[in-house]
Amino acid sequence: MDLTSYAELAVQLVNMGNELKDPFSLRALLEETGRTEAAARLTRRDIDALCELRDELAGVFASAADGDDVDAVERLNGLLVRHPVHPQISGHDGQPWHLHLTEGGRVADALAVGSVMGLASVVTRLGVDRLGICQASPCRNAYLDTSSNRSRRYCSERCASRANVAAYRARKRGA
Ligand SMILES: [Zn+2]
Ligand SMILES: [Zn+2]
Repeated sequence: MDLTSYAELAVQLVNMGNELKDPFSLRALLEETGRTEAAARLTRRDIDALCELRDELAGVFASAADGDDVDAVERLNGLLVRHPVHPQISGHDGQPWHLHLTEGGRVADALAVGSVMGLASVVTRLGVDRLGICQASPCRNAYLDTSSNRSRRYCSERCASRANVAAYRARKRGA
C-alpha cells in the first residue's frame, strides 16, 4: 500500500476540475495510474460522489496553502470520519501479502478512503505545508511538495516557466 501514490490521486482528482464529470477522463486517469479494476467498475454514482470529494479535498489544499494548518487538519479529520478504513490483507495477482485500505464497496468509497488516508499520511509525516496551490495565477491547481527543501510553488514545469517569464517582464518594465 503506497500512501504517497494515493496522495497524488487526491491531487489529480482536485486538478481534474469539471473534467471529473466526464467518465472517459476519469476512467483514463484511473487506467494511467494502474487502477484498472476501479476504472472498469466506475458508475455515474461514483462520479457524483467523487465530485463532492473533489470539492472537499480542494478545501484542504486551499487551507494548507493559506497557512491555516488547523483548518486543513480539521477538514481532513472530518473526511477521515466519513471515509473509514476497512483494512484487509490481500495477495492478489501473485503479489506478496499487502494491506488494502478498503475492500468491496463502491469505487468512489475506495478512492475516497485512499486519497484521504494518503493526504493524512503526508501531513503527519512531512507537514501540512507540503500541500499547496499553484502560485502562477490564474492557475489554481493543487500540488504535493515532496522536494527535500520544501521549495515547490507551482503545479507543473509549465506553470513555473510561465511565472518566471511574467516576473522577468515585470522586472524589465520596472527597470
Ligand atoms: Zn493490492
Ligand atoms: Zn499551475
